[in-house]
Amino acid sequence: MTLWVDLTGMSDEVFADLYALCGQDGGLGEVNVDEDPTVARVTYSQSVHKATSDRLNTLVNTNYPEPIVITGYASSGTFPDGNPASNNGFTFIDRKFKPTVIRVCYDTQQCNGAGVWAVGTDGSHIVFPTTVMLYHELSHAYRIANNTWVADIPIEEAAVITDENVLRAELGIPLRDIHNRSGGCGGPTYGNPWGDCFLVSATYQSEQEIKIHRLRVTRDLLLRRSTLGQDFFNQLYREYYTVSPRIAVDMRHSPALLRIIKLFLVDPLLDFYELVQEYCIRGWKDNRFVDEVAARLDVVCAELTASGVELQDADVLARGLAQLATGHSNLIEICESNGAYTSPKELLCYLSGVLNESWRPLTLVQWALLTPLAAYWSLLAHALADKASISTLAKRLTDTCVNWLSQAPISYSSVKIEQDLLTRDLEDLAAGVFANPIIRTAIGTRLLERYKASVEFDLWTTLKKLDYTPACWQAGDSSDEKRRRHSQC
Ligand SMILES: [Zn+2]
Repeated sequence: MTLWVDLTGMSDEVFADLYALCGQDGGLGEVNVDEDPTVARVTYSQSVHKATSDRLNTLVNTNYPEPIVITGYASSGTFPDGNPASNNGFTFIDRKFKPTVIRVCYDTQQCNGAGVWAVGTDGSHIVFPTTVMLYHELSHAYRIANNTWVADIPIEEAAVITDENVLRAELGIPLRDIHNRSGGCGGPTYGNPWGDCFLVSATYQSEQEIKIHRLRVTRDLLLRRSTLGQDFFNQLYREYYTVSPRIAVDMRHSPALLRIIKLFLVDPLLDFYELVQEYCIRGWKDNRFVDEVAARLDVVCAELTASGVELQDADVLARGLAQLATGHSNLIEICESNGAYTSPKELLCYLSGVLNESWRPLTLVQWALLTPLAAYWSLLAHALADKASISTLAKRLTDTCVNWLSQAPISYSSVKIEQDLLTRDLEDLAAGVFANPIIRTAIGTRLLERYKASVEFDLWTTLKKLDYTPACWQAGDSSDEKRRRHSQC
C-alpha cells in the first residue's frame, strides 16, 4: 500500500515508465481508491524476476509508514521547490501532510522532446530516458523510506546512480559515471516517434542530426501548433512507448536486426513521410509532382536492388505489414526465425511478437507507421516487378498520400471539442497537412459522423465556413438525390 501515481500529473507516462522498468511485467496494475480521486494505487504481482522488478515489488508491497507518490511533469512544469521540471527529477519529503509523503517528481517529456543527456563512464554524453530518470528518483525514495539515505549529496548520488546503472545494464544502454552529476537538455534522444524517434536515432547514428531535424520540421510544419495535432502525438507516443524500448534494446544487441529495421522499416518510412510533406506543401497543386515522384521511385528501386532486396522480399513485406497494420499481429505461421535477422520474414516475425506484447491497443501506431509502410512496400513490389509502370505507380503513390491523410485518426482523448478550438486548429491544419480540398472534405465528413451529436455548437456550419464541408451532392444529381444526401449531412 505504498506506491501511488498522482493522477493530476502525466499519469499515463508514469505508468508506462513503471511498466518499462519492471521488464513489461503484466503483473503491474493500478487501482483507483474511493478516498482520494487524485491518486491511483500501484499494484504489482511480480512474474518477471530481475533486480529492477524486485525493487519495484519491494516498493509496492512493503507497508512503509510514508506513502510514495509519483508525479509526472510536463517539461514546461515547475517542481514544488520552484525549479523547472525540464530535464530534471526531484524527490523530497513533503511535510505538509500527516503522515508525511515521499514525493517523486520527474520530467516525462525529455525536455520537450529534445532529449536529456547525462555523462557516461567514458566521459561522453549518454541518453537519460524517462524510465531511467524515474528509477533514479525511486531509488532516492527507497532510501528515504528505509532510512538509509544520506544528506551528503555526492555520496547519496553515487549510491543512487549505482542503482540506476542496474537498470541501464538491463536496458542495454550506456552506464553513467557515478561521480558525475552533470546533465542537460539535448543530445542523445530516446522516446518520441517521428520528431525524436529513437529508433531513427539508433539506426542512423552519424546521419542522425539531419534526418531527425528533417522529421521534426515535417511534424511542426504539417501539424503546426494545433491542439488536436499535439493530442494525436501524445496518444501516438504512449502507444509507441509500450513497444519501442524493447526494440531499441534488441537492436543494440543485434547489429543484424538493426540493419533490417533500417533497411525495411525506417528508410522507407522516412521516404514516405518526406513524400507526404512535399505533397502537402506543393505536390497536390503541381502537375509536375507525379513526374518527380516517378524519378524518385526509380532511384529507390535502384538502391534497393543494390542492397540485395528482391521483388519477393518487397512482396512478403507488403503482405505481412498489411496484416500487422490491421491489427492481425499473429503471424506465427510465417515465423521461421533463428535469430539471425537477415530476411523480411524474420523481421515480420519479430515485429508480430513485439506488437503482441503491448499492453495498449496500437491503433495509432497502425495508422501512423504500419499502414504507410504496407502501402509503400506494395508499390515498391510493383515497381521492382515492372520498371515500365513507374509513372502509373507514382500517380498511385500520390493517391496513397491522399487516402492515408483522409483516414487520419480523429478521436481525441484528452481534448474537449469546442468551437473556438476546432476553428483555430482546422484553419491551421488547412495550411499544412490538410491543404488538399479532397482531404478536407474527407476529414469534414468523418468529423460530422463522429462529433455531430456530441458537440454543443453547429458543427456543419463551422465546417462549411472553414471549407471542410463534405460533398453532400455532386453536380448533376437530381433534386431528390440532393435532398436525400443533404439530410445525411
Ligand atoms: Zn539524484
